[in-house]
Amino acid sequence: MDSGMGALDVLRRVFGYDEFRGDQHEIIEHVIGGGDALVLMPTGGGKSLCYQIPALVRPGTAVVISPLIALMQNQVDTLRELGVQAGFINSTLDLDERRVVEAQFAAGELDLLYIAPERLATPGALRMLERGRIALFAIDEAHCVSQWGHDFRPDYLNLSMLHERWPDVPRIALTATATTATHKEIATRLGLNEARHFVSSFDRPNIQYRIVAKQEPRRQLLEFLRGEHRGEAGIVYCLSRNSVEKIAEFLKDNGIPALPYHAGLDDRVRATNQDRFLREDGLVMVATIAFGMGIDKPDVRFVAHLDLPKSIEGYYQETGRAGRDGEPSVAWLAYGLQDVVQQRKMIDTSEGDATHRRNLSQHLDAMLALCETVECRRSQLLAYFGQESGKTCDNCDTCLAPPESWDGTVAAQKLLSTVYRLQKERNQKFGAGQCIDILLGKKTDKIVQWHHDELTVFGVGSDLREAEWRAVIRQLLAQGLLAVEGDYGTLVMTADSAEVLGRRRQVMLRREPDRPISAAKAAKS
Ligand code: ADP
Ligand code: ZN
Repeated sequence: MDSGMGALDVLRRVFGYDEFRGDQHEIIEHVIGGGDALVLMPTGGGKSLCYQIPALVRPGTAVVISPLIALMQNQVDTLRELGVQAGFINSTLDLDERRVVEAQFAAGELDLLYIAPERLATPGALRMLERGRIALFAIDEAHCVSQWGHDFRPDYLNLSMLHERWPDVPRIALTATATTATHKEIATRLGLNEARHFVSSFDRPNIQYRIVAKQEPRRQLLEFLRGEHRGEAGIVYCLSRNSVEKIAEFLKDNGIPALPYHAGLDDRVRATNQDRFLREDGLVMVATIAFGMGIDKPDVRFVAHLDLPKSIEGYYQETGRAGRDGEPSVAWLAYGLQDVVQQRKMIDTSEGDATHRRNLSQHLDAMLALCETVECRRSQLLAYFGQESGKTCDNCDTCLAPPESWDGTVAAQKLLSTVYRLQKERNQKFGAGQCIDILLGKKTDKIVQWHHDELTVFGVGSDLREAEWRAVIRQLLAQGLLAVEGDYGTLVMTADSAEVLGRRRQVMLRREPDRPISAAKAAKS
């Protein structure tokens, strides 16, 4: 690249954009000036330019550490089309190919060199880097250094050595994950003590957030896709590989072009599916969360979750893949009681110590609270990331169709006394289904067999429908007034349950809207 060009020249002449966005300009000037930076910017915010432009302005090669091996080729091709000298080193290269890139680097022919973190951990890689001139280090997806995050990569922990070996080379760490805790952890673990922090707003105003009660997920999904997103590209996230395959089949059977993506598929199939999704119009990718990190497809019109994400960070990141072009898009999540039971079970049986499990639990609780809120989803989401907005958004389901809240104290007492009788008096383990049957006064075989029709609470809950009881249970779980444990989702009391039973605490619950937000109302522009 010709030297002497300023950041704005490079933006216009190389990348063809008129103006910087948000903090881009400040970040870029800071790094060009040799400063370290920690950049927290939402997906689609334009993080790449923050290191690509300094790479072109500063002498030497920018070394970009990225875990996204599958995308390196793509990124490098895009840069080369713009006339930027870029190369990458990862496990997909054979020895000869790697030698070519290494020689280019040593000869000072590269503006950018992308490298996978596991590669960098090898002594050979460090010797190679010592042969060239380094303009800066960019550490992409920096939250991978966080041991609490779901993207943890052990190799990221070694990256602090870059600073020890090259103390004068500026470093820029970038991520779209931004709770205060992760933020601090990145700074500490990467040794970014002197770094300036650039925190952008995490609001994605063009994404409409909607969370619905899961009844018949397939039918609900189909209605959502047919009613609002015919012919549009989007992602459907499922928890397991098995459900990915089944839902993809189901959509295809119903005339919706869908592709599966999960870590259990053959590499080639995965690459093909990803490629088709990026290049063709109107495909629906049904995937586990293995799909999506670093995917830059601007016109993803919706992200649907058929299972509850494990944390708000995950939810935010996954939904953030919608609407990168700024056009109206929808984040739709169907969630039910079974999700809570299943995730609690996964936490209970997860590896790791008590602290780790408590951490997972807290993440899940925050996610549940978001699902059950009567307040604006967006403000809750932003508040979680420490960005209070203090206003409502008019572009989420709770703003568009405010749910009523009702005094559920009596309902909660009925439910909790049922749980109390089973747990404390009879020492029996039952899940939501049996409790609801007791409350509704249903004489099923299982009720008769266990003499549950003899309980005083039998039939006291016939004023609510089964779906309403499920909603009550979900919300009590979300409020910590009830817990579930074990393989069969046994309902148990918590420390706070007694306050409700003892009439010392009022319980406010959210009433599900009768009809979901219609397509017309949803099409907010
Ligand atoms: P991130 O890595 O933060 O998710 P990207 O760097 O991939 O985001 O940028 C998202 C999209 O925005 C890309 O298509 C990129 O070309 C575009 N973009 C970035 N900066 C600008 C800008 N200043 N003006 C116009 N488009 C931009
Ligand atoms: Zn809102």
